[in-house]
Amino acid sequence: MNFHTLPIKSINSLKQIMRQYYRELDSANIKKDKKIAWCTSQGPVELLRAMGFLVYFPENHAAMLGTSRKAMDLIPHANAIGYSPDICSYLTSDIGSYLIKQTPLCYTYGISGIPEPDVIVYNNNQCRDVQEWFQFYAHQYKVPVFGIRTPRGIGPVNREVINYITKQLKSLAKDLTSISGKSLNHDTFCEVVSLSRKASDLWKKILYMAINRPSPISFFDTCIHIGPAVVLRGTNSAIQYYKELFKEIKKRKDNNIGVIKSEKFRLYWDGMPIWGKIRWFSETLSIMGASVVSSTYAHSWIFDALDPDNPFESMAIAYTELFTVRDEPSKEDFLMEMIGKFMIDGIIFHNSRTCSNCTNSHYGMPQRVTRKTGIPYLVIDGDLNDLRCFSQEQTLTNLEAFIEILEQKY
Ligand code: SF4
Repeated sequence: MNFHTLPIKSINSLKQIMRQYYRELDSANIKKDKKIAWCTSQGPVELLRAMGFLVYFPENHAAMLGTSRKAMDLIPHANAIGYSPDICSYLTSDIGSYLIKQTPLCYTYGISGIPEPDVIVYNNNQCRDVQEWFQFYAHQYKVPVFGIRTPRGIGPVNREVINYITKQLKSLAKDLTSISGKSLNHDTFCEVVSLSRKASDLWKKILYMAINRPSPISFFDTCIHIGPAVVLRGTNSAIQYYKELFKEIKKRKDNNIGVIKSEKFRLYWDGMPIWGKIRWFSETLSIMGASVVSSTYAHSWIFDALDPDNPFESMAIAYTELFTVRDEPSKEDFLMEMIGKFMIDGIIFHNSRTCSNCTNSHYGMPQRVTRKTGIPYLVIDGDLNDLRCFSQEQTLTNLEAFIEILEQKY
């Protein structure tokens, strides 16, 4: 981090558990002694782990391609085989990485390469792109691919939807049996769901400490520390790590230590992170006295519904009541709730060029929320991975103007 923000000490433990996670996958990839499943970030990981698979998440890899700013060199390779520059830049950078056989996983974690899948599983709860992305790999590696079909734009998560998803999860368990070589053990499944829920609860407690004024943690920290909530759900490692992080952030909170030196304004970030510019945003906003205390993104890995006593159905609910799956009124209600809880002074909407699924500034949401709350908003044009869609100069000008509005208002 930088002079204006407080670094998180637990980062060393985070690096260690992420290294262990990737090395275990690498070992299985080399020795072929354990089956590997690829899964979407909000896919049915608990089921996969309960059936003995090690689980690899292409989205985590894609975010690394964004953070390391390799994505722009890789995207054109995917474009060249027909994947448009307008579709998800996670997809295009990840497929580009596959095509030219380059990955930061090798030099970051010392592994031999991308762990090859025995099976590929997605849930299209977040978007259609994951389906295309994962089917590409199923074809390349010649392995089975299974998809959970989730209706999009839903209001209340009703019985009909829950039954529909539950049925698919049960059917998936049967399909996976022939690949894993063993059928699902109910007790193991309950245990994995329980571990997942515990990690989610800890993650939630960490995120909610940002209610404190000054906030002890920022959105930019959560973008980094979300790793275990994504790739290690359903394991003890995630729980151990979040206990450590919770302790550190709570200590800050108890001592009224803010993540930035002087918190004048509290902001909310809606939409995807701009991975290659996390540090720049963190530094720039902290210098302006603006702490980004909460976000749609980090809160999307809270799964309150997970229940070890009812694993299939609770997974169906948890992975369907997500923000991205819902209709506009439900999303608006969520944003209104967050603005109130986190005492937000201004909202940044990231208009991500290649991910309309996580962009909420296209259909009047910012205007409606501002009309209801009086809280000013700013729309930033950018992208999760493709920095050719982002102008730092223009964004700086917009941020300065936004902070001036906040200064006049508060
Ligand atoms: S939700 Fe957006 S960023 Fe995530 S995979 Fe889908 S299109 Fe890509």
